[in-house]
Amino acid sequence: MSDSAFTPRVFSGIKPSGGLTLGNYLGAIKRWVDMQGPDFETIYCVVDLHAITVWQDPADLKRSTHEVAAALLASGIDPEKSVLFNQSQVPGHAELGWLFNCVARVGWMNRMTQFKDKAGKNTEKVSLGLYAYPSLMAADILLYHATHVPVGEDQKQHVELTRDIAAKFNHDYGVEFFPVTTPVIEGPAMRVMNLRDGSKKMSKSGESDMERINMLDDADTIAKKFKKARTDPEGLPSDVAGLKDRPEARNLVDIYAGLADTTAEAVLGDFGGAGWGTFKPALAELAVEKLAPISDEMKRLLDAPDEIDALLAKGAEKAEAIAEPILERTFEIMGFVRSRR
Ligand code: ATP
Ligand code: MG
Repeated sequence: MSDSAFTPRVFSGIKPSGGLTLGNYLGAIKRWVDMQGPDFETIYCVVDLHAITVWQDPADLKRSTHEVAAALLASGIDPEKSVLFNQSQVPGHAELGWLFNCVARVGWMNRMTQFKDKAGKNTEKVSLGLYAYPSLMAADILLYHATHVPVGEDQKQHVELTRDIAAKFNHDYGVEFFPVTTPVIEGPAMRVMNLRDGSKKMSKSGESDMERINMLDDADTIAKKFKKARTDPEGLPSDVAGLKDRPEARNLVDIYAGLADTTAEAVLGDFGGAGWGTFKPALAELAVEKLAPISDEMKRLLDAPDEIDALLAKGAEKAEAIAEPILERTFEIMGFVRSRR
């Protein structure tokens, strides 16, 4: 089986680890919606097993799982076109995750920058799951033989690790069973930065609410957060070269471009020479225009969690039907006795 024999298939996931941000929307969700269509089979997952790599209050986990599913549906993920489900409902993720723990090398995990960022100085006290997370992520992707993974820039290293795991498995067992997956990292907002510190990415689990725009924030809150967003004393330059070494300015321009489906150049074509007092309210207005219809629909869905659960259940069945033969073949290749089959 060569690479070209694999069905073009997209897999991607979001953790229910808190309220969703504009970073999640621009870096992931919006692009997942765009990838639906004739070119790919699309599989999207609320990766709850990843969320518990850091402490999650059980009630919060449930609420966040519904919130992520609601955000995906409200943003235009169509359960008729895509498979949408939550990870823990398809046991194959955890099973293949374990098999890959035995393929991945400790040295590879030690190079993961996200683990270093998240663990900080606390490397001895964080969960073993947080350390092993990239190997479960490889399982999420390869359980479906996914060929393309649309993610934000921060996940690039983990998709590369997925490629290493696939290649090592194929090599060790003398097969061409797992595809070498391509990360799809595109668009002007593949790395949305924290509004208070342009050197850090915007995260749902970040410390302060003022550093991120949440998908459920109301218009006043969005306006206030952009108004207080850190910038520098210069105004907007007339071309992208003028954003060099100005991470906060670059970030606001990129966010505008991501929301408007255009480029940073085009945004500066319109706003070059303007001050922040002009640009920030325009950015807030655009964000509200794009997010308000989504957050209204999210709120409607969150009042009807049974509706969400019914869709997730159907999605899990579809996901399992794709995963099951791939997992079974993996066990077979590795030499497991499958006497109940
Ligand atoms: P956490 O802080 O819990 O890790 P997160 O905001 O980083 O939350 P994830 O669930 O880890 O969100 O990631 C979901 C998707 O959103 C991934 O594809 C990731 O690359 C993308 N993403 C997350 N943050 C950003 C960002 N700031 N800019 C662009 N994409 C992002
Ligand atoms: Mg993250």
